Amino acid sequence: MKQLLVISGKGGTGKTTIVGSFAVLAKKKVLADCDVDAPNLHLLLKPEVKTSGDFYGGKKALIDAEECRQCGKCIELCRFEAISGDFQVNPLLCEGCGVCFHACPYEAVSLIDDLSGNWCISETVYGPFVHARLGVAAENSGKLVAKVREKAGELAEEKGKDLIIIDGPPGIGCPVVASLSGVDLALVVTEPTVAGIHDLTRILGVADYFGVRKAVCINKYDLDQEKSKEIEGYCAENGVAVAGKIYYDPAVGKSLAAATPLINYAGNKMARQIIKLWQSVEELL
Ligand code: SF4
Ligand code: SF4
Repeated sequence: MKQLLVISGKGGTGKTTIVGSFAVLAKKKVLADCDVDAPNLHLLLKPEVKTSGDFYGGKKALIDAEECRQCGKCIELCRFEAISGDFQVNPLLCEGCGVCFHACPYEAVSLIDDLSGNWCISETVYGPFVHARLGVAAENSGKLVAKVREKAGELAEEKGKDLIIIDGPPGIGCPVVASLSGVDLALVVTEPTVAGIHDLTRILGVADYFGVRKAVCINKYDLDQEKSKEIEGYCAENGVAVAGKIYYDPAVGKSLAAATPLINYAGNKMARQIIKLWQSVEELL
């Protein structure tokens, strides 16, 4: 079974738009949204949830008011100022470090599992889909990404699918690292801007570090042909394949407004570019 990860060094490059079109074009696949902090692939795929589960990402402190003698030791020691003057723990500030739990002389503090989000297995007209959502100010997004990938792997085995297409998170943080490990190919979607090039080099460096094969898609390449050439030059120098170039088209905005995968909405020229990109990716896989 192969795993394709679509990522970007920064948000807003068109990563999810491309995954939405791959969802239409690819056969025998499971789709997974690992952008657990800000998932939006479901808006294009319109999933029907079949199974779901809670995600407990860490611990939070809880003070038992009946046992607490109000000595103030926990307030004094909490580095995150998560305990108020009336001995209540603010769950948004508590990092679950456990210092108050160990320091309390009266065993008035417990550490409880923190409900940090949930995951879902859904059906879509394009195939099975695993997705998740992290709660507000919740931590351990990397662990939730791992859960989504674990469920996607199980689902692919169960349903006899030979490909998992992952919509990855933007940036280079913990959820990106959790998305990258063990994939067969990382397709990095970039755009010809100063920020786009800067973030592209960073994410390619992260992929290198983890020994993941990579390819690049230049989205909106015609908006700055000079910068697009710069990206192509950088990729050539560093042995990274440019799998495709997509030109700017107002149809992208319209397809997003209509919550429809771009390939179902675009004109022939755009559709040809996306199909060509998908064929290159398939070959690289
Ligand atoms: S250390 Fe324990 S007893 Fe003291 S204020 Fe905190 S919870 Fe209450
Ligand atoms: S677990 Fe750590 S962060 Fe949370 S209230 Fe206790 S000392 Fe503060």
